[in-house]
Amino acid sequence: MIIDSDVRALGELVGSENVSTRVADLEAHAIDESWFKPHPADVIVWPSSTEQVSAVVRYAYENDLPIVPWSGGSSLEGNPVPIHGGILLAMYRMKSILELREQDLQVVVQPGIIYDDLNAQLGKKGLFFPPAPGSSDVATIGGMVSNNSSGMRAVKYGVTRNYVLKLRVVLADGTVITTGSNAKKTASGYDLLGLFVGSEGTLGVVTEVTLRLVGLPEKIAAVVASFESLREATGVVYDSISGGLDPSAIEILDTATIQATNQQQKLSLRETPTLFVEFHGNEAAIDEQLEYLREICEDHACLNFEQATTTDTRIKLWTARKEARESIKNAHPGATLISGDVCVPMSKFADMVDFVHDLGEKEGLIIYAFGHAGDGNLHTEAIVHREVSGEYEHALEATAAIVNHCLEIGGTSTGEHGVGLGKRQFMQREHGASLDIMRTIKKALDPKGILNPGKIFPEE
Ligand SMILES: Cc1cc2nc3c(=O)[nH]c(=O)nc-3n(C[C@H](O)[C@H](O)[C@H](O)COP(=O)(O)OP(=O)(O)OC[C@H]3O[C@@H](n4cnc5c(N)ncnc54)[C@H](O)[C@@H]3O)c2cc1C
Repeated sequence: MIIDSDVRALGELVGSENVSTRVADLEAHAIDESWFKPHPADVIVWPSSTEQVSAVVRYAYENDLPIVPWSGGSSLEGNPVPIHGGILLAMYRMKSILELREQDLQVVVQPGIIYDDLNAQLGKKGLFFPPAPGSSDVATIGGMVSNNSSGMRAVKYGVTRNYVLKLRVVLADGTVITTGSNAKKTASGYDLLGLFVGSEGTLGVVTEVTLRLVGLPEKIAAVVASFESLREATGVVYDSISGGLDPSAIEILDTATIQATNQQQKLSLRETPTLFVEFHGNEAAIDEQLEYLREICEDHACLNFEQATTTDTRIKLWTARKEARESIKNAHPGATLISGDVCVPMSKFADMVDFVHDLGEKEGLIIYAFGHAGDGNLHTEAIVHREVSGEYEHALEATAAIVNHCLEIGGTSTGEHGVGLGKRQFMQREHGASLDIMRTIKKALDPKGILNPGKIFPEE
């Protein structure tokens, strides 16, 4: 429990203007984009430097106070929700680009910088950081590192983890470490860097990130292809990836998602299962890939194969894909969306999509399915009207059935959103004895359990 003297002490560390216990501030940081119950922290602190983060974390350590990093607040699993109260460390004012090393294709940033803002600056130099989450206009680099986020371009470029070269981290007792190297590869010692990526603020607070960058492609091409059935659409995904096609994105949207997208984004896409495909490269390579994709689509009785001919149309299409969740949300005003993020081996993707659709029908629930098909990453949105007795519990059971089926067929409970609160119940089943090793690591790095408590591990 935070008391007045704690608030005063925190004010001395970061300036009283950067500390708040106002209800409006606490409420604004009490819930991310997930469906969990909001829970406010006792106090919010806005640090502006590694030194301030270190001082605040040390204070929390010495006084046994929970401390939860918060950045864009766009997580979908309750990851930054301060369920035990305490100090909320709002990292989003630390948003500077500290150094751009063009010749090394590297950038050093503070963690609060937003993905789109960073890429807007990098784009001026012909560079970019590729993972592209659907929430790119709000997700920060610190949040992406901590959730190991990815997105539409992971199929070609990989996930955040593949781009993190070095981190500055404040440990639970306030000690500051730097882990990783400016070198492109290293074989030196344990992979501490990798440990912090995806640790959701439970092992340390990231205050500086060095990212590897990629050159912007010479040309971008986009295609929309629609199919009679989801089986045909998933068949194209499988044949494309196993046949060596190299899309920079291959996204699937089921009929219901296309309907919501048409309705909300003022588009007139054919309302059947659809693939959005994107290629990056030079003109000749792209033309070859487009032709190959067209052949595969024709083999799967494609109803429509349309290339976006202008940059405007291409951007409009990808914006529509990015906004899929928002479109679904707006199509059901007042409803709660329970999001899923399972990821399966490529050969099992069609099975996973069928399972979700059959389950929705069998259980009489509206469950939308769309996602990063090229990675086997399927997002689901179960629609819940909390005022309808039993519907919430029913949808949670269905969402659990989806995860359990995914685990049965060799997948993971979360492809990119992280564990947060929502996936804790599956951690034992997914990791078995390895979960005990994770607990040992947590205890070694955070012996008092003050860093983002209640996340990742199932409640004991
Ligand atoms: C519409 C929509 C679409 C989305 N699409 C995608 C997608 O395509 N791919 C994807 O991967 N995710 C997606 N997400 C989920 C989410 O946007 C990402 O996980 C995002 O990277 C979270 O970043 P954030 O800055 O909002 O972090 P937050 O939600 O604020 O925090 C995320 C986690 O990191 C911790 N944290 C934050 N900053 C730090 C720090 N400096 N040091 C240590 N820990 C820290 C927090 O405690 C929390 O556990 C989507 C969300 C929405 C709402």
